[in-house]
Amino acid sequence: MTVFPIASSSSGNLCVIENSTTSIIIDAGIPLKGIKPLCKKVDAIFVTHSHTDHVSGIGPIHRHYKAPIYIKRSAYNDKPKVFEKCELVELQETPATLIGDFIVEPFPTKHDTPSFGYYVTDWSSKRSVCLITDTGFITPLMKKYASKADVLMLEADYDVTSLEEFEEYPDFLKARIASDWGHLSNEQSTKFIRELLDEGKKFLKVVFIHMSVRTNSEELLMNQVEKDIPEILPIVTLAPTIKPIDLDE
Ligand SMILES: [Zn+2]
Ligand SMILES: [Zn+2]
Repeated sequence: MTVFPIASSSSGNLCVIENSTTSIIIDAGIPLKGIKPLCKKVDAIFVTHSHTDHVSGIGPIHRHYKAPIYIKRSAYNDKPKVFEKCELVELQETPATLIGDFIVEPFPTKHDTPSFGYYVTDWSSKRSVCLITDTGFITPLMKKYASKADVLMLEADYDVTSLEEFEEYPDFLKARIASDWGHLSNEQSTKFIRELLDEGKKFLKVVFIHMSVRTNSEELLMNQVEKDIPEILPIVTLAPTIKPIDLDE
């Protein structure tokens, strides 16, 4: 099983999860040309939510790969244009969706539009990935999935001080980002992982995703990781990556 966050930031998101027989993507917030050379087939597209950075390329990607789009009706009602001429499948929270070797379980996140995280299990290798993005805080259900996963892909959107001091954002936008309906800060993310580690959780990999290009940096995030969760430094990766992360190595 591999995970490949081809694009990951507040300006575009797309993550490929695949094994030798099955390939799915979570979000399609980049143009088709960004995924085409890297991915031969896609069996299904899952969507976290309808913000542009997650769905901007969805029509062409959907048609090129002839892959159905799994999405909650509540998540596309407000964005009909991007989903024009798309075959949409209503996303079920239960029972889980089966795509080839993968069992896909969505769970709600806390954002300013209906939004979902995903727990994906590869039943052939028994590996699992939990992807949590675009959420203002961590719920008990998110924690339940994260604590079962071999790989945690977790949003670390902004550095608190950088956001406060960033002059190009109006106050209402800063308040939205930092609210319970916005995004996770570096500190919120590392504190959550700290909590899991203290309860005995061991991860194979931790991948930080959705880092803001304006109010975060690799250096700021890694400083937070070193401060709060230094023992996982060897297994930390920052998204996007230039090649797939192999979970079977
Ligand atoms: Zn986003
Ligand atoms: Zn969003």
